[in-house]
Amino acid sequence: MTIDSQSSNRTDEPAHPSKRNADLVAAFTEHFGTRPDFISVGPGRVNLIGEHTDYNDGFVLPVALKRDVRLAVRRREDNTVNLLSVEYGGAFTFDLNDFHSSHENLWANYVMGVAWALQERGIALTGMDAAISGNVPRASGLSSSAALEISSALAFLKNADALDALPGAQIAKTAQRAENAFVGVNSGIMDQFISMLGSEDHVLLIDCRSLDYQLIPFPAGASLVIGNTKASRSLASSAYNERRAQCEEGVRLLQSALPGITALRDVSVEDLESHRALLPDLIYRRCKHVVHENQRVLDTVAALEAGDLDEVGRLMSASHDSLRDDYEVSSPALDVMVEAMRETPGCLGARLTGAGFGGCTVALVRTGDEQGVANAVYEKYPKATNIWPEVYLSRAAGGARIEEV
Ligand code: ADP
Ligand code: MG
Repeated sequence: MTIDSQSSNRTDEPAHPSKRNADLVAAFTEHFGTRPDFISVGPGRVNLIGEHTDYNDGFVLPVALKRDVRLAVRRREDNTVNLLSVEYGGAFTFDLNDFHSSHENLWANYVMGVAWALQERGIALTGMDAAISGNVPRASGLSSSAALEISSALAFLKNADALDALPGAQIAKTAQRAENAFVGVNSGIMDQFISMLGSEDHVLLIDCRSLDYQLIPFPAGASLVIGNTKASRSLASSAYNERRAQCEEGVRLLQSALPGITALRDVSVEDLESHRALLPDLIYRRCKHVVHENQRVLDTVAALEAGDLDEVGRLMSASHDSLRDDYEVSSPALDVMVEAMRETPGCLGARLTGAGFGGCTVALVRTGDEQGVANAVYEKYPKATNIWPEVYLSRAAGGARIEEV
C-alpha cells in the first residue's frame, strides 16, 4: 500500500455501525441457520493520561472509543455455548457446567472466562449461539481483550435475563477476574471499567485504589487522534515487571521516612523531593514519574472542568516526556510518532498510551485540524521507521450496550 500524503486525506476509519451489524447478522445467520435475538457491544479504550499509575494505587483517565467488539446472540434452552469468530474464522463450543480453557482458540478463553466468572458470582446463565466480530486493533494497546470480555458479559447477562443482577462496576470486576484467573493475564481494572462505564463525550476518572469513579465532560473544541505504531511490544512484559518491582522498592525505601505509605499513591510531589536522598537515582526517576503522573491526572481533570484544552495538551505532552526520560518505557517509534503529531498545527499535546515499547499514541487536536495531524503521521512515521502506521480519529464514545437487530 502506498499513500500520497500530499493528495490523500484519509484515516483508517471503521465501517459504519449499521453496516457492521448487518455483516455480523449475515455471518450469524449463515453459520447458525437462524437470526440472532440481539447484539451486545463492548468498546475499546484509550487512556488520555495516567500511565503506569494503576498498579501504584493511583489515578487513570481513559475514554471509550467508537471501535468495539460485538456479539450477535441467540438464546438456547440448554447449557451449550456455540461461538463463531468472524476474524479468526473459527468455531468453538463449550458447556456452561464444564470449563476447559483452549490452547488452539485463545480468543474463546475470554468468552469462556467471563461465563465462568459470572457463574462463580452465583448468576445462573443459559446456553447461546453467538457470532463475534470486532474492529479494535488486537494487541495494540487499545484493549480489544476488555472489549471482548465486556461484550461477552453483557451477552450472557442479557441472554439470561439478568442485566440487572450486577451494577456496571461489578460487571467490570467480574470481567477483570475472567482475564486474571481464567485467561491468565494479570491486568488492572481500567480497561473493563471504561469499556463498561464509558459515556459519550466524557472521560472517566478512576481511583485504582478505592475503585471510585467519576465521569467528566470532555469539552467541545478538540478530539483525539490515535496513532498505531504497529511496532512490536516484545519488550513490554519484562520491562513491566521490572518497573513494578522498582516502584515497590521505592515505597520500601521511602517507608523509613514516611511510615504510613503503602503505595506511591500515598507520596506527594513534595514528599518525594524531601526524601529524595533515600533513593538511588534510577529508583528516584521511576518514582518521580509515578508521583508526578498521579498529580498530572488530577491537574488534567481540573483543566477539563475549566475547559482549558491547552493545559490538557501540555499535561499529556509532559506525561510522554516523563515516560520517555524517567520511566524509560518509550521507544524510537513512539517518539517519532509523538513528535510528528506535536509538530503539526492544531495539536495541543501528544503522548504514548498503554504500557509502552510499541502500541499506540494519542494526541489532543483542535477540531478541524485532525486530518493534518493524521497526514503528518502518515508522511513522517514510515520515512523514519519503515512501518506503515494506522491512524484513528475518535471522540469519547459511549460504553457497553445492547443493540436491537
Ligand atoms: P489488547 O487488549 O491490547 O488489544 P490483548 O493481547 O490483551 O491485546 O488481547 C488481544 C486478544 O483478545 C486477541 O489475541 C484475541 O484473543 C482477543 N480478541 C480481541 N478482539 C477479538 C475479536 N474481534 N475476536 C476474537 N477475539 C478477539
Ligand atoms: Mg488486553
